[in-house]
Amino acid sequence: MILIRSLRQTVKRHVGAVPNPISRATSKAHARIRDADVTVSVCPYCAVGCSQLVYTKDGRIVDIEGNGESPINAGTLCPKGAATLGLVHNPHRLTKVHYRPPYGDRWEERPLDWAMERIARLAKETRDAAYEERDADGTPVNRTLAIGHLGGATLDNEENYLIKKLFTAGLGIVAVENQARI
Ligand code: SF4
Repeated sequence: MILIRSLRQTVKRHVGAVPNPISRATSKAHARIRDADVTVSVCPYCAVGCSQLVYTKDGRIVDIEGNGESPINAGTLCPKGAATLGLVHNPHRLTKVHYRPPYGDRWEERPLDWAMERIARLAKETRDAAYEERDADGTPVNRTLAIGHLGGATLDNEENYLIKKLFTAGLGIVAVENQARI
């Protein structure tokens, strides 16, 4: 803006008056984070743990940027972290349980409680049917190889801790994996 103003003054001195090249709409425009509240947070995606600035207006997140004061990322975010706003506000995000029954050819909407109860029941039945206290050599193993777990990158440390505790210590599942890298 300052450069344009001094350029206009220079041109005006040598050529005469020139029209303002900045449109009225542009001169009224401002950053979408102006007057927003800002909260320091951490990127939810990977173990690098980049710091983020989360901007909110009226309780709604309007922007998420890298935190320039963080010694980890110094204001930067990788493309995935820079798209965190889309994790929060995404018109394509599923907000209801979709269930396709065996041999079904379409998805049906079901209540979340129904889905949670069904998942818990099937996990318990499978675990009980395939639980091994000892292996073929008689060595105690207390495990089931019939169930595995694959986690996603938005799981945070605390969620992974609870998943490992429930699935391995509680149910005896040993195949537990999680994507937590760039
Ligand atoms: S996903 Fe990208 S922005 Fe997020 S913590 Fe990892 S490296 Fe940083």
